[in-house]
This record gives sequence, structure tokens and C-alpha cells, in this order.
Amino acid sequence: MPVYNEEAVLFLTADRLRRVMDGLGETYEVILVDDGSQDHSNEIIRVLQTSWPQLRLIQLQRNSGHQAALAAGLQRAAGQYVVSIDADLQDPPETIPEMLALARTKDVHVVYGVRSDRTTDAFFKKTTAGLYYRMMRRYVGSWVPAQAGDFRLMSRDVVDALNELPEQKPVYRLVVPALGFSSGEVPYVRAERAAGSTKYPLSKMVALAVDSLTRFSAMPLRIATWLGAFGFVACLALVVYCIVGFARGVTVPGWTSMFLAVLLIGAIQLVCIGLLGEYIARIYAHLLNRPTFRIAYDSDAQPAAEPTTVPAQRVQPDHDKQVETLVG
Ligand code: UDP
Ligand code: MG
Repeated sequence: MPVYNEEAVLFLTADRLRRVMDGLGETYEVILVDDGSQDHSNEIIRVLQTSWPQLRLIQLQRNSGHQAALAAGLQRAAGQYVVSIDADLQDPPETIPEMLALARTKDVHVVYGVRSDRTTDAFFKKTTAGLYYRMMRRYVGSWVPAQAGDFRLMSRDVVDALNELPEQKPVYRLVVPALGFSSGEVPYVRAERAAGSTKYPLSKMVALAVDSLTRFSAMPLRIATWLGAFGFVACLALVVYCIVGFARGVTVPGWTSMFLAVLLIGAIQLVCIGLLGEYIARIYAHLLNRPTFRIAYDSDAQPAAEPTTVPAQRVQPDHDKQVETLVG
């Protein structure tokens, strides 16, 4: 649970979360990642620790952002299943048992908490969030689950895969579905922030959107190519216009050649920038160094489950567990 200046809500959150976790009847740990809070969050967590032995505090040196705090927590979480959840009770902890049950009964690796109802969100938040998910589904891939933020349950395998990624500060809500693990969804009603105010000002929201887009899509780089192509077509139409004007002698001498040169060079430049963009996109993808695939199952790497007398039809490959490919 990432915590940034949440003194107003921490006691309440701890109280509700503890009820749920103790009620699970499982061994657990709760990791609070203090993302460089300047208020009394840190002291409050230390007080909470005195009466809640499963509570663990990780304190970041300075405010590094929501996703970085998540990364810190995921790297240290030891559980067989790991849930990431906001500190402000907008993600109800009471949903966790449902997520765990689904992961176990359906045998899926990821369970997304999907906001079924955002009526408690302000109009601005709702529209910007709607725009964000629409954009991601369009430019990143339709595999991005809509309205699934960072409230999700992940199996050990998923967390290990995330921790192995060489990428700095991954955008988890895109990286997790990109890994392609089997998944389920649990709908929940997005509650109002229990106390305090949002720690996501517009600047952080824009930064997340830009990060999400540039890390997963070369679309922004292609804008130059498209503008160049558009300019070129427009240029062709204007060439006709210029020549007609020239033939009718209604132009100032020199205008035609000048105008054509400007149009053409502009279009050529844009196309060239687009070309450079294509190469930069590839260099960037290489730098991110995401694995291009993950092996879900390898018959040779597993100990033989049953003796060789097993009838052929019983060892058919599980099509759900074939090699899963990362979006490069
Ligand atoms: N958060 C964080 N670092 C930041 C901003 C936010 O760790 O720089 C945490 C915050 O404490 C909360 C979660 O990220 O647990 C989501 O933030 P918030 O609820 O303010 O976002 P909103 O729900 O308004 O989008
Ligand atoms: Mg919130």
C-alpha cells in the first residue's frame, strides 16, 4: 500500500484492513510504503506497528511517485499472493477475500479490481480517467482492461515476473496485462476518499498518461510521419493550383517556385522526422529491454507428473498455457 501524506486516513484504513486480513485465516503481511510523506504518516505507521505485528514499513528517501512506491512494495512482498491497494479506502479492503477466492477457484494469476461505479468521483476525474482508458485501449492495445487501476491481486509468479523486468518505474496497470497471465475481474464500487485530499494533482495525472503512452506506443512519434504524408497530399493539390495560377499569369513572378519549394521541403522534412522517429522508437524499445516472451510451461523443465503409461489424450497440451508474448 503506497502512502503519501495520508495522516488523515491511516488509522481508519488500518482498522478496516486489519479486520479483513485477520478474518482471512491466512498468514499475511501488510507492507506500507511511505513515499516520502511530509506529514505524520510515518509516525502513525510506527504507532500502528506496536499493536499490529504483521505491519511492515518501508520508507522511501523522498517522494518518488505512486508507481515507484508500488515497485518498492512488490520487490519486498513475500506472499504467495500480493494485493496492491490505495491507502485512502477508495479501494474497499473487503473486496480482497473475494479476489483471493476467485484466484484460487478459477486458478488465475491476476484478479483486477474493476470500478463498476464511479459516481462518487468528481466529474473531472471521471472524464479524465475515461479518456485515459479509452486512449490506452486504442493506442496501447485492447487487452488493457478498462477501469482497472492499481487495485489488483497477483500471484507469486506475476510478482516475480514484474520484479525481473529491467524496466525502471513500470506503469503497472499496463505492464501487468501486457505480461499476459490468466486473469479474472472482481467489480467493486469506487468509494469516496475516506479522509484527506487527493495526492494526484493534474500534473501527476498528465505525467502518468504521458508515461503510459510513450512507454507502450510509438504513436506520438508517428504524428510527424502522418503530418508529412498529409502535407505531401496537400502539396500535390496546391501544385495544380500553382500551375493554373502561373499559366493564367495572375501570380507575382517568383511566387510559384517559392510556394512550391516551401510546401515540398516542409513535407519532406516531416516525413524524414517521422522516419527518425521510427528508429528512435526501436532504440527505445530496445532500451526498455522487455522480454519479448515468457514461457508459461515447458514439458522438459517439469518433473514428469505421471508415468509413461498415461494414455495419449491425457497429456494434451493446455492451450491456455502456451507461450505468452509480451508487447515489445
Ligand atoms: N501516492 C503515493 N505517492 C504519490 C501520490 C500518491 O504513494 O506521489 C499514493 C496515495 O497515498 C494513495 C495512492 O497513491 O495511497 C493513490 O493516490 P490518490 O488516492 O491520492 O489518487 P486518486 O485516487 O485521487 O487518483
Ligand atoms: Mg484515491
